[in-house]
Amino acid sequence: MYENERNELAEKLKNKGISDEDVLSAFRKVQRHLFVPDVMKHHSYVDTALPIGYGQTISQPYTVAFMTQALDLFPDSKVLEIGTGSGFQAAILAEMGMKVYTIERNEKIFFKTQKLFDELKVRAMMRCGDGTIGWNEYAPFDGIIVTAGGPVVPPALKKQLAVNGRLVIPVGDRQGQTLQIYTKLSETDFKLIEVPNFAFVPLIGKDGWKEK
Ligand code: SAM
Repeated sequence: MYENERNELAEKLKNKGISDEDVLSAFRKVQRHLFVPDVMKHHSYVDTALPIGYGQTISQPYTVAFMTQALDLFPDSKVLEIGTGSGFQAAILAEMGMKVYTIERNEKIFFKTQKLFDELKVRAMMRCGDGTIGWNEYAPFDGIIVTAGGPVVPPALKKQLAVNGRLVIPVGDRQGQTLQIYTKLSETDFKLIEVPNFAFVPLIGKDGWKEK
């Protein structure tokens, strides 16, 4: 179902600058409409964020592709996602052969997505809680991706990143953020690349925003 739409979306992402063939191939396979609420299904392959309930969103496909490409991972890499949401980003990473660990703070979203992962056989370790403290038991991670925007980079995430690993995180105010891409050069040194103009829902937690 929707195979043509998926191929067309992958082509659009390519035209917008996504060049990693593994990312594009995952977008051709993962069925985004299964991660989108029924009333929104017909918009599943439009390059836009969509509401998933509880004031949260499934991110824009271009953003998911851009962040996944920025992680620069190889199959079998261990990757931590903060903000499971609909599960689409985690499913893309799993389709690419990553070992996926994902944390969601909203219980209702967590259980809904856990059920979906069971049904679709998406392989990911899931946890319900505050992702700003990371997941120390499974650290270090080759990649960490944060899909909600915070005021600062949570120190635990930098610590739990492996040397040579990448951390991709939107940082800014509640309205708009810059995507920060850190490469860990040594236990204390990081290289930073910044890409402006992103807008994510807020990262709420110990090292995020306070809940309103
Ligand atoms: N990756 C998601 C997807 O593919 O649908 C996008 C998720 S949505 C833009 C961001 C999610 O982050 C929301 O579900 C929100 O509840 C969650 N979130 C916010 N703060 C969090 C935190 N501290 N720890 C874990 N999840 C958090």
